[in-house]
Amino acid sequence: MNRRTFLKTASVAGLAAGTPATAVLGYEQIMHRQAGGSRPRQTQPRPAESPEQILLRDYRPKSIYKIPVTEIAKARFPIIDMHSHPYAKTPEQIAEWVGNVDEVGVEKTIILTAAVGNEFDAIHRQYAKYPDRFEVWCGFDFSGYDRPGFGAAAIKELARCYQAGARGVGELHDKGQGMASGKSKTHGMHPDDLRMDPLFEKCAELGLPVSIHVADPIWMYQKMDRTNDGLMNAYQWRLDNQPNIVGLSGMVEILERAVKKHSQTTFIACHFANLDYDLARLGELFDRNPNLYADISARYAETAPIPRFASQFYAKHSDRLVYGTDMGFEKPMYRITFRILETLDEHFYETEQFDYHWSLNGFGLPDATLQRVYHDNAAKILVSRPPKPR
Ligand SMILES: [Zn+2]
Repeated sequence: MNRRTFLKTASVAGLAAGTPATAVLGYEQIMHRQAGGSRPRQTQPRPAESPEQILLRDYRPKSIYKIPVTEIAKARFPIIDMHSHPYAKTPEQIAEWVGNVDEVGVEKTIILTAAVGNEFDAIHRQYAKYPDRFEVWCGFDFSGYDRPGFGAAAIKELARCYQAGARGVGELHDKGQGMASGKSKTHGMHPDDLRMDPLFEKCAELGLPVSIHVADPIWMYQKMDRTNDGLMNAYQWRLDNQPNIVGLSGMVEILERAVKKHSQTTFIACHFANLDYDLARLGELFDRNPNLYADISARYAETAPIPRFASQFYAKHSDRLVYGTDMGFEKPMYRITFRILETLDEHFYETEQFDYHWSLNGFGLPDATLQRVYHDNAAKILVSRPPKPR
């Protein structure tokens, strides 16, 4: 049996044996949890598994190839990580994080809190000891979004967070149901909604870039059957059974309308705007919208199966892509991203870091591209903000 046939069989066996119906955490939440150290899923193979009963989600192949394996302890250029979260909760953990990024070569990390009020202030205080290493961004307060007069209070809170130290906004979410910022959620208010206009305009005025996550990976919308390329992830966080949400393509259109409408606001679409499966479309968005960037966080495993197309995309749009992680602060997590971006290693598995099971390949990005994606594009976004009035 060749490898392909085996994969096919494994996939069908996985379906026949059934997958758990518990949908507790979202894809990102799982990624966060996993990266944060706790192990939400079984990683040890169960004893005495019959090949006929191996589930796709338990499949842990090892590469047979005697080919180069490159370990990169430190990134080739200093990095600005544009997508992280307040994973570290104590002064000790924050100090450990600083030690880790020193070792791997990350000079600055953007902490996307999505928070406002006391919650934002508390997180900002926690990280204030390292002002050169961390920037803490705030969220929007959507309370009252469904009542007349929404806007003034949200803008007031945004200006207050700005005064308290926020230098950007994020991570905002809209997975098709409506905008959300942490615990502050809306139903049916999307980024292109009129009610969002004053907020995004205020961001331009204050020089706050906006980090925004729209939609989710394509396989969550597709049929949950043996043709689904991301089935091992998709089933648990499926969206195909939620008919009343805006789909992936619709969310991308909504995002573009918002980006166009607020041409003075800088938008950073998280995770390639979930167009990692259709990078050419993302490229068209870049071409039409000079104020749009995308971060590459949490989509390493999803792009590493297509290294040639991906590296061409990086080359063509190296002025719009920014590095991000979104996966905790452990050193191996950073290093696997370096291996994918910097090396030409082929057919390796990284199931400890990623839930995606397919084999990965390095992009071997040239220095000029790496430097932009790792650092220069982010630096341009951060430096172009107007200085904060005293
Ligand atoms: Zn995130």
